[in-house]
Amino acid sequence: MPTDRPWDGTIVRYPDPAIEVLDDRFAPFKIPNSVVERLWTGARWTEGPVYFGDGRFLLFSDIPNNRIMKWDETTGETSVFRQPSHNSNGHTRDHQGRLVSCEHFSRRVTRTEHDGAITVLLDQFDGKRLNAPNDIVVHSDGSIWFTDPGYGIMLNYEGLKSEFELPTRVYRLDPASGETTVVIEELDKPNGLCFSPDETLLYVSDTGDPRNIMVFDVDGTAVKNGREFAAMLPGGSDGIRCDIHGNLWSSAGWAGAGYDGVHCFAPDGDLIGKIHLPEAASNLCFGGPMKNRLFITGSQSLYAVYLETQGDQRP
Ligand code: MG
Repeated sequence: MPTDRPWDGTIVRYPDPAIEVLDDRFAPFKIPNSVVERLWTGARWTEGPVYFGDGRFLLFSDIPNNRIMKWDETTGETSVFRQPSHNSNGHTRDHQGRLVSCEHFSRRVTRTEHDGAITVLLDQFDGKRLNAPNDIVVHSDGSIWFTDPGYGIMLNYEGLKSEFELPTRVYRLDPASGETTVVIEELDKPNGLCFSPDETLLYVSDTGDPRNIMVFDVDGTAVKNGREFAAMLPGGSDGIRCDIHGNLWSSAGWAGAGYDGVHCFAPDGDLIGKIHLPEAASNLCFGGPMKNRLFITGSQSLYAVYLETQGDQRP
């Protein structure tokens, strides 16, 4: 494994050994002359990448530094997009292209309007404060689904240490009506989440106990039949995304070299490939005009790699 790969200033001989094919089903995704790139480094803990094709940039969180960063696809430069960010974590875009964000410090879900104004979509449920929303996706019906494991209130490092007022959950929020429902309450630390391309399945990573990726059948505005999709020990999954073929691409971290980076699972749950990184990975998203570039937030850095697949149509 390319665990001692020198990332800075060294030319990589193709094919890139950091992209590991474990199963023939992964082989078509590896482009022979594509390289895993480190686009930027200098954060404390990156999270929540979201691509803006209209602006040709990527936003991502640097949670402990209380800022949202902006990587510009046209110049390659990275700058501060918003600070303070209320220790924002996961981001996505709604169907109007607006940024929708999870915030740890302020324990809320917000939407950034086209004029820059920030609308609070939700900060409490049943009269109690949310814990610390973590990651977020938008369904084709416009509803917003997010996880609330509460990491942002467990330490002052990524938010503000506070008591839990609510169980750890996955919620569904209808931004039109404001109606919010509990979708899942059976997971210890629900973290990353995404739908399958046809939205018949909802995947949720659990970074608590056990550390795995669960899958649920979507039943209207609810889910049912939760079962384990992939075990992640000795490490863990955080952010997850599907490609157009229904493969699940998961960040992987906390188990060291040979494990940390990205794990790709076939729809049947088989681990079919890895992208090795020298840091624990937290989250990922597909982007670029062709949606064939995987952006990965990894601890202190931002990475990207072109693949011969594409993200599904959600950011
Ligand atoms: Mg997360």
